[in-house]
Amino acid sequence: GLRIGVLALQGDFREHIHAVEAAGATGVGIRRPAELDDVDGLIIPGGESTTIDKLSRIFELADPLRKRIAEGLPVYGSCAGMILLADEIADPATDLDGNPQQTFGGLDITVRRNAFGRQRESFETDLDFKGLEFSAGESGVDPVHAVFIRGPWVERVGPGVEVLAQVDPEHASHTATLHGLARIVAVRSGQLLATSFHPEVTGEKRVHELFIRMIRGEA
Ligand code: GLN
Repeated sequence: GLRIGVLALQGDFREHIHAVEAAGATGVGIRRPAELDDVDGLIIPGGESTTIDKLSRIFELADPLRKRIAEGLPVYGSCAGMILLADEIADPATDLDGNPQQTFGGLDITVRRNAFGRQRESFETDLDFKGLEFSAGESGVDPVHAVFIRGPWVERVGPGVEVLAQVDPEHASHTATLHGLARIVAVRSGQLLATSFHPEVTGEKRVHELFIRMIRGEA
């Protein structure tokens, strides 16, 4: 069967391993470069992107991971994982020496961290999500109940990046921080998938199922 690695340096990697298994694949925690060699895909979990960045360099995973992404390894990043897949961060954090945080990159997007603002940095909403047609019932595709925990949004998408979901400015509780604009919260480019929110914490299996279909070449 399919083996999906989950980067297990920091963050909610256990929840992703459970979600992968609920979606019918084997989930494997990844802490060493060699462990990247026998997985069919990788998930970068939510957590703190600056911490995962630092630990990945200390554990010498950052460069092998960049290489595997460039070679076409399917990767799904949620929240901090989306930030780590982004080619550019609008507002990168700097460490005590003034060095900006780094990303693995590969996904031609610009993200803004903690984008939904202090008041609303954690919230839940229902989203229309493209690409889940395989799950359609009689009434069509059910919306994805999305939990945002200090999540980023996507401010720029490059050519070839498909927008899968946006938070709508009509959504009453978020008009202030959205400034009247729909904000992109899920994207796909080739074998890379990223969401600003955390499907792994709600029992939502379809985003992980979509990722599994991408790995299998079915989506
Ligand atoms: N704000 C965090 C960061 O910048 C992401 C939060 C999350 O993954 N839940 O890394």
